Amino acid sequence: MFNVTMQNGFLYYTLGLLALAAGLAGYDFWRDTARQWIPSRSVLVECSECNGVFLSERQGAVLRCPRCQTVCSRKHT
Ligand SMILES: [Zn+2]
Repeated sequence: MFNVTMQNGFLYYTLGLLALAAGLAGYDFWRDTARQWIPSRSVLVECSECNGVFLSERQGAVLRCPRCQTVCSRKHT
């Protein structure tokens, strides 16, 4: 029969807590990778005239603000 002494019980309790912490860490890692930022084909552009922010195609030839029709430039980071 499975006999649990005081020392063994403390050991099993500690191992159980470690397994629980490892499981939670694994779940957190999985959740972070599932919500990972995925680069899109669009880029966020800020207009220098009206400070409007809009999305534009990354490969677009001319970036023109939809609000004031000013030609904007991409910010190079
Ligand atoms: Zn503008």
